[in-house]
Amino acid sequence: DFRPAERVTSIAVSEIVRITARAQGMKKEGLDVIILGAGEPDFDTPDNIKEGAWAAIKAGQTKYTALDGTVELKKAIAAKFKRDNGLDYALDEITVSTGAKQVIFNAIMATVNPGDEVIIPTPYWTSYSDIVQIAGGVPVLVPCLEANGFRLTPEDLEAAITPKTRWLMLNSPSNPTGAAYTAGHYRPILDVLLRHPHVWLMVDDMYEHILYDGLEFVTPAQLEPRLKDRTLTMNGVSKAYAMTGWRIGYAGGPKALIKAMAVVQGQATSCPSSVGQAAAVEALNGPQDIVLERCKSFEKRRDLVVEGLNAIPGIVCPKPEGAFYTFASCAGLIGKKTPDGKVIETDRDFASYLLESVHVALVPGAAFGLSPYFRISYATSEAELKEALARMAKACAALV
Ligand code: PLP
Repeated sequence: DFRPAERVTSIAVSEIVRITARAQGMKKEGLDVIILGAGEPDFDTPDNIKEGAWAAIKAGQTKYTALDGTVELKKAIAAKFKRDNGLDYALDEITVSTGAKQVIFNAIMATVNPGDEVIIPTPYWTSYSDIVQIAGGVPVLVPCLEANGFRLTPEDLEAAITPKTRWLMLNSPSNPTGAAYTAGHYRPILDVLLRHPHVWLMVDDMYEHILYDGLEFVTPAQLEPRLKDRTLTMNGVSKAYAMTGWRIGYAGGPKALIKAMAVVQGQATSCPSSVGQAAAVEALNGPQDIVLERCKSFEKRRDLVVEGLNAIPGIVCPKPEGAFYTFASCAGLIGKKTPDGKVIETDRDFASYLLESVHVALVPGAAFGLSPYFRISYATSEAELKEALARMAKACAALV
């Protein structure tokens, strides 16, 4: 009999993956399903980046590379950190992995012992807690309510810290809420961390370039140099350059941590893909105007979705500051009945109802640790978004 290891049985299959698979199955059956589930830009990888990869293939860059990134890519990353964030990282303070997801995995596996605690502001990107659990760590979920813009308060952080706390994980702009931290939001949180030198800070800046309303992006190591020697500043090319399939993520951090992360990577994947790394060099060193252009297009879609959702009675959608998600409340619809007489008891019920009745796939807030909400990924065409909103309005109007 197959017997999975305990570290696997404690983890559920990602709800996002499950819902997307179900929606794709329905599509295959011929149903016209609109999928607003996956966190993936609908744009193509820019041509200059593809050409960079092609040139690398032709030049024979098709072999194993240095364990945690080629010198060329590390130099491009160092230049990016300097250019965009005013941060100085030496090449041995930089790591490259198979997606930012592996950066997180390496960091947690390299530092968290069984029983160690990791503070995760909630709602959170689902992988954070699962990765901590794989390592035998304890995710400490701290609710961040809509009333505070889904941001962590310094008081809640202070109360969550114990002698066992190893990390605080922060993500701005956030998946799933789109909430962003300005310098003013970060300051009191960083002050708490200054008082607790045993707590390290993992910052997920994946959505750095998808920030709206003229807000200026900031990252903690830049704001508080006294925390830099216990901060891991993570980023990647997946979202900014529509490169999800190339699987390249990176981070800057203290040398000893970067070295320990390389030990994990060395036994997992040996190195990131050589061709993906060459493409990432072009992404970071090449022209950056497309990043801004795409951000503007995401901003237009955000406005469309926020307005459309707020026009539906029972749904309240705060305006996200970045990323390409809305996180709206469906509290006003809980307790209502579907035309089939089924009561919508939870956000999961609501998501299933939308999928089955009007073929719109989205992810319930429960998957991210906060209910009753739902996440829409609006990295899809305006035409599809408009159609999805019209269908949702119809489905919600049918509830009694
Ligand atoms: N961090 C956040 C907040 C994300 O939303 C994602 C992807 O959805 C990642 C990290 C991982 O990105 P990748 O592994 O593609 O670099």
